[in-house]
Amino acid sequence: MKLILLGPPGAGKGTQAKFLQEKFHLAHLSTGEMLRALVASGSELGKKAQEIMSNGQLVSDDIMVDMIRDRIKQDDCKNGFILDGFPRTIAQAEALDEMLESEGKRLDHVIEIRVNDEEMVNRVAGRYACDKCGEGYHDQYKQPKVSGVCDVCGSKEFTRRKDDQPETVKRRLESYHAQTAPLLPYYKKSGVLKGVDGMADISDVTQQINSIVSH
Ligand code: AMP
Repeated sequence: MKLILLGPPGAGKGTQAKFLQEKFHLAHLSTGEMLRALVASGSELGKKAQEIMSNGQLVSDDIMVDMIRDRIKQDDCKNGFILDGFPRTIAQAEALDEMLESEGKRLDHVIEIRVNDEEMVNRVAGRYACDKCGEGYHDQYKQPKVSGVCDVCGSKEFTRRKDDQPETVKRRLESYHAQTAPLLPYYKKSGVLKGVDGMADISDVTQQINSIVSH
């Protein structure tokens, strides 16, 4: 199964991708995560990416398309994958279609997680993650069971993404509406687009997505 989760920052793409990854044994391909790893590597390309990301802008299509082209060839993608954060422009979507077509494959589902913008700024501003294992938390919606200790690995170190500050989130939302939202009519035309209500509880959104992918 090959699917895309679409939605603005804070919609819950990463959270839902993790459920799908476990339930259907798919690879979770988050281009944001891949870019953050590139930044952490300290390479020249990483430095350039960091500047763009901290301004809430998009990294160039060429870089992103090459990154995904290499990634989907890897073994863990054989059973299928969930794209989280890619494509983000029409050019990326067209490149993905070409990549899949050249191997006689196609997308099974593109799922739009629908949310409202104002709520997203608050949601994103409250999130943080374990420094060691990456488990995600939220000031309001998901605190660790023992305060200050990661539920998964026991680490006491947490980080917040620099680009989750309200001013940057506003710019990321603008870029979503200008550059990524045009993907909705693009995928509607090819008949693979479905929508879920992303304002519902996390488990409810998971159920909505399960019922789409199980049909
Ligand atoms: P995310 O973790 O998906 O919110 O991505 C964090 C940041 O990485 C975005 O705000 C962009 O600057 C950059 N980024 C992630 N995926 C893409 C993509 N497909 N195209 C361009 N930039 C991206």
